[in-house]
Amino acid sequence: MRITVWNEFAHEKTDEAVKAIYPDGIHAVVAQFLAEAGYDVGTATLDMPEAGLTDEVLANTDVLFWWGHMRHGDVPDSVVQKVYNRVMEGMGMVVLHSGHASKIFQKLCGTPSGQLKWRESGDKEILWVVEQSHPIVQGIDEKIILEHEETYGEHFLIPEPDELLFISWFSGGEVFRSGCTFKRGRGKIFYFRPGHETCPTYYNKEVQKVLINAAAWAYTPKAEPYKYGWVPKVVE
Ligand code: ZN
Repeated sequence: MRITVWNEFAHEKTDEAVKAIYPDGIHAVVAQFLAEAGYDVGTATLDMPEAGLTDEVLANTDVLFWWGHMRHGDVPDSVVQKVYNRVMEGMGMVVLHSGHASKIFQKLCGTPSGQLKWRESGDKEILWVVEQSHPIVQGIDEKIILEHEETYGEHFLIPEPDELLFISWFSGGEVFRSGCTFKRGRGKIFYFRPGHETCPTYYNKEVQKVLINAAAWAYTPKAEPYKYGWVPKVVE
């Protein structure tokens, strides 16, 4: 099982506050704790050729993590289509925070999932686990507390999730569906809300635990593709 952590890697180059938290990029921190958990992990960023997601990289990726925000529009449509095709074949995806508005997540959802409420006011966030039997929340208590995060609020314009694992409460009053699973083709997708670039959220051990679990959950072993189209009778 091979993981690729993709990041647009833009805020970390231009914003000193973000650079101070993630000097080598958000992808480096996410890749490090996944590797320490025993996974085979690579990284890819937007400014690499083909946005770092060449045919070879995608063919060798079983689970793709995705963080993007200010440069969603710069991801080539051809790359989005190739990622989509790999999800149909069984590649898992873990979509992080503002990845909700990425081209690929919107294409997978079939809705303009960028639609939600937001506010940068350093609110406290409590992520309540609402499905304790799920593999993604194993080892997590009934809640995760983040002292300061960006606020997201409902309504979040997504299709009904296959499973809802977390609901967030924010000290400013909003609530949000923060942990959602979807299946598309053979691919398993997990959306996980926290992870604003000016907050050290990806250093939080419980957040890391959720994402380590999510990588294992999203993995689908390779298998022969389904056959479609005209076929002769199976039984004469
Ligand atoms: Zn954000």
